[in-house]
Amino acid sequence: MEGFAEIRGQFPALDQEVHGHPLVYLDSAATAQKPRQVIEAESRFYESDNAGVHRGAHELAARSTMDFERARSQIARLVGADAREGHEEIVVTAGATAGLNLLATAFGNASQGSGGEAAKRFALGPGDEVVVSEAEHHSVLLPFQELCRRTGASLKWFGLDEEGRIRSDTADSVISERAKVVAITHVSNVTGAITELEPIIRRAHEVGALVILDVCQSVPHLPIDVHALGVDFAVWSAHKMYGPTGVGFLYGRRELLEALPPASFGGSMVELAFLDKPAQYMAPPARFEAGTQPVAQVVAAGVAAEWMLQVGLERIAEHESAITAELLKLGDIEGVRILGPTSPEARIGTVAFDVAGVHPHDVGQYVDSRGIAIRVGHHCAQPVHRHFGLFASNRASTGVYNSVEDADRLYEAVSGVRAFFG
Ligand code: PLP
Repeated sequence: MEGFAEIRGQFPALDQEVHGHPLVYLDSAATAQKPRQVIEAESRFYESDNAGVHRGAHELAARSTMDFERARSQIARLVGADAREGHEEIVVTAGATAGLNLLATAFGNASQGSGGEAAKRFALGPGDEVVVSEAEHHSVLLPFQELCRRTGASLKWFGLDEEGRIRSDTADSVISERAKVVAITHVSNVTGAITELEPIIRRAHEVGALVILDVCQSVPHLPIDVHALGVDFAVWSAHKMYGPTGVGFLYGRRELLEALPPASFGGSMVELAFLDKPAQYMAPPARFEAGTQPVAQVVAAGVAAEWMLQVGLERIAEHESAITAELLKLGDIEGVRILGPTSPEARIGTVAFDVAGVHPHDVGQYVDSRGIAIRVGHHCAQPVHRHFGLFASNRASTGVYNSVEDADRLYEAVSGVRAFFG
C-alpha cells in the first residue's frame, strides 16, 4: 500500500522490541493499536475542553458538547448512518457487549409492557423465536439466550459448513414465521468468515423479524453501509477500530430507536421525572445514554473514524487482504489446520489455526518469545470451536499496520513449534 510506512509510523506502540525481537502485533481482533492522532485527541480534550456535556451554561460545557456530537457524526459517517439533529441513529454505549445487552434488555422490558403500544413490536413471549448462529461471540449468544429465558421465547440457530461459514442457504427453514429477532455476526472473530447476509436479512424481514448485526469484526476491515445492508440494528466497539477502550456504538434505524424503551435509567435520559407517576423519557439517542458518558473516549473514537476514512476503507480492505492470503499459508505447515475459509475473498485477516498435538497456550508462548503477539483460547466463542472439535485455538489477526513480512515472521515461528514441543 502506498504510504504504508507513514501509516505504520503513526502507531507508537508498534515501535518496540519484545524479547529482543521487533514486535509483530497480530492480535487486532482482540484490540487494535491506536494511531497517535487518537491518543492525542483524548489528552487534548482533557487539556482544553473537559466538561459535562449537554445542558451546561458555560463555555467548556458548550465546547465539550460540540466535540461529543461531532464524534457522533464522524461515527455515523463511517457506517453510513444518519447524523442530522433530530434524526440521529448512533447511540453511545460502553462497547459492543453493552450495546447487545442494551437491546436484549430493552426487548425484555418491552415484553413486560415498557414503552407501551409503540414498543409492542419488540415484545417476545412463549412461541416466539430468536435466531443466532453457531459462530456467535458470547456477547451475542448470552444476552439473547437470557432474553429467551426471561420471555419464554425459544432460541434457534444457524449451523456452519465445514469451513465454518454460516449456512445462509438455510435461512428459509431456520428463520420461521415465529422469528422475532435475528442476531448475527457480520464477520466471525474466529473463522474470519464474512456472512452472506442477503438471504438472512431478506427472510428475516419477510417474516417481520428484526435484524441485529454484530459488526465488531467488519467495521475495522471492510467498508460498511448500514442503510445499504438493510439491517435494523448494528453494534460494535471503538477499541477494535483504532479507537479507545470503554466505548462502542449502537446503530438503530431511527424509527425503531424512537419506539424502543430504555434499558438503563438515570440522569440525562429523562425529560420529566416525578415521584407519583412514571417519568417521560427523552428522544433518542439521549434516552439510551443514561449517566455521564465517556466523553473523552467518544471524542477520540470520532477521530479514529475520521482517520480510517482518510486512510480509505477500500484501501484498508485491499491492504489487509494481501496479508490474509499470506497468513493462510500457515495451512501449508504440516500439522497446522486453518479454522475457516481458505479463500481470502470469503474472509478477513482473522485467521484461527490449530497445531496438532500442541496446546494453544504453548504455541502462544513460543511465538511470543520471538516477539509475535497472537491470541490463544476460545476467543469467547465456544460453540464455533466445538464445531471444529476443539476447545481452543491460536488466532492471528491483522490491522492496517501489518505487512506481508509480519505474516512471514509468524509462518517461520509456527514452522518450528511442533519440532520444539515434539
Ligand atoms: N462480537 C465480536 C465478533 C467480537 O469479536 C467481540 C470482541 O471480541 C465482541 C462482540 C465484544 O466486544 P467487546 O468485548 O468490545 O464488548
